[in-house]
Amino acid sequence: MDEAYRNYHTHTARCRHAVDADEVYVLTAIACGYDTLGFSDHSPWPYSVSSDCRMSLDELEDYIRSVRGLQSRYRGRIRILTGLECEYYPKYYDWLRSVRDRFRLDYLILGNHYLREDEDNCYFAYARSGDQLKVYADMAVEGMRSGLFAYLAHPDVALASYPQFDGAAEQMSRIICQAAKEMDFPLEYNLQGRLYQDLNRYDGLTYPCGDFWRIAGAFGCKAIVGVDAHAAASLRRTDRIDEGRRILSAYGCRPVDSIRSASEN
Ligand SMILES: [Zn+2]
Ligand SMILES: [Zn+2]
Repeated sequence: MDEAYRNYHTHTARCRHAVDADEVYVLTAIACGYDTLGFSDHSPWPYSVSSDCRMSLDELEDYIRSVRGLQSRYRGRIRILTGLECEYYPKYYDWLRSVRDRFRLDYLILGNHYLREDEDNCYFAYARSGDQLKVYADMAVEGMRSGLFAYLAHPDVALASYPQFDGAAEQMSRIICQAAKEMDFPLEYNLQGRLYQDLNRYDGLTYPCGDFWRIAGAFGCKAIVGVDAHAAASLRRTDRIDEGRRILSAYGCRPVDSIRSASEN
């Protein structure tokens, strides 16, 4: 592949379930032919529940300072962007806007993992009922409509443990894909989910889910491949980026590799 690779979905060890120093991600991306690396670690939230799946509020400034430092250190070799992956927690969206503006973040992505503001609640990758899929889809679409986000990460994550592609799964997929098409809003083909397929982490439809992407293709949705790197080594699997783009094209999706910046939202 002659074109450079781009990835806007990169975590850091601050989220407590990723590894490697920030700079190792950058060096790996340069070595593997990326021209753009966007950091989008799991956003902290201004509520009191402590978390093992995202940075704490007092780590936010260090995260931004570190990514900005790498941006200047490697300028001319790779474009580094500063972002966050955010839940659908609308009651904190004024706060999120203020963070975005105060730190002049380049972009935000929507990753709808949890029902309500506490990760002890339903984690959508373990959804097993049609009702949960409907809730997931409605939340995702409301988040997409907020105007805060550049794209929807792993739109099919709620199918991970869901047993079969039945009417509820189809309805969830159609709700999300129809809204994405109407808003010209990119959906992400998620390579961390692809890695979980290798590891047999989920026992349901898993994600990326072919039946979801068939529907996205039928709607002609825009789609972006996201590495969702939780280790620098994940960036080395550029073959998976090529594979994702091939699959998306075969389904009729429109693969894109650029995103709207926060200032355009
Ligand atoms: Zn995510
Ligand atoms: Zn992620």
